[in-house]
Amino acid sequence: MQKDSFLKFKNVIKKANNIVITTHWSPDGDAMGSSLALYNYLLQLGKKVKVVVPNAYPEFLDWLPGNKSVIIHQKNQAKVEKLVNNADLIFTLDFNSFKRIEKLGELLEKASAPIVLIDHHQQADNYATYYFYDVAACSTCELIYELIAGLGDKKLIDKKIAACIYTGLMTDTGSFRYPSVTAKTHMVISELLKTGIVPADIHSAVYDTYSYERLKLLGYLLSEKMERVNDFPAAYFAITESELKRFSYQKGDTEGIVNYPFSIKGIKVCALFMESEGYIKISFRSKGKIDVNKFAREHFSGGGHINAAGGKSTQTLEQTVNKFIALAKTLF
Ligand code: 5GP
Ligand code: MN
Repeated sequence: MQKDSFLKFKNVIKKANNIVITTHWSPDGDAMGSSLALYNYLLQLGKKVKVVVPNAYPEFLDWLPGNKSVIIHQKNQAKVEKLVNNADLIFTLDFNSFKRIEKLGELLEKASAPIVLIDHHQQADNYATYYFYDVAACSTCELIYELIAGLGDKKLIDKKIAACIYTGLMTDTGSFRYPSVTAKTHMVISELLKTGIVPADIHSAVYDTYSYERLKLLGYLLSEKMERVNDFPAAYFAITESELKRFSYQKGDTEGIVNYPFSIKGIKVCALFMESEGYIKISFRSKGKIDVNKFAREHFSGGGHINAAGGKSTQTLEQTVNKFIALAKTLF
């Protein structure tokens, strides 16, 4: 997949007036950070812009500048249909297949406006007119920075845009510790800090927001629910809906938990299975060359990155876990 030239992008954006930005199902820090960074940037260019997300996102992202204007498709279908039909340019951020946005994908498939895909996940589908795509980028937010800078508008990156971009960089890199972090990532951070954003405050706004029950859930999962796979350096959690209810589960409460078994010496694969909205939501994480994107794509209708992927299953929790255990040998 190619990176289209900035000049071409500049013209495309210049001609557009009604712009819709959208991102993946269950938006995370990078999804919301990149969407709202682009939103705030396009507002500065005088565009009419709307951010549309497929479903709700965690409360710890509510402070992001522009959050109040975000429209949730699941709750406002007619409004979103109108916006998409009236758009003359659509951005899809932090995903690369309409399957990742459920019913919103059906709308985009019919849309007449050109689509710009900006993403860093593996194996993009071919739905867009313009691609700004790099699997080596640590986050879509890094690409948004690159895009704005490439368009010659670095000077427009204010505190609001910087806070959004910083959030995605931070959340998609596990606070700057994954192998996806490069010199470029830190160069971008250094530029963002010049706007006056305070990293410690952003970290706190995203991570120091647990409810009492959420921390209890983490404790329960670590002490009672973490399992190892026999014969392989893999560990997993399987969480039922009633367990989630017991800890007053809110969207986002299990985020990050999948990674904990990596702190056990030798563990190379982690998984988390969770009953959610009538199916099993799955997260996979791996170390080094172990490709969980491929694994999730082949066996669990999912995808993502080589070391971080997700998927789903319509089997029971137990069947899904058993399938994972039976297939674990293919990972090593
Ligand atoms: P998470 O485990 O945090 O939900 O997702 C890990 C990575 O995999 C993220 O980059 C996310 O966008 C991607 N991902 C999660 N679920 C799916 C899925 O069902 N399909 C695809 N293609 N990617 C997913
Ligand atoms: Mn991302």
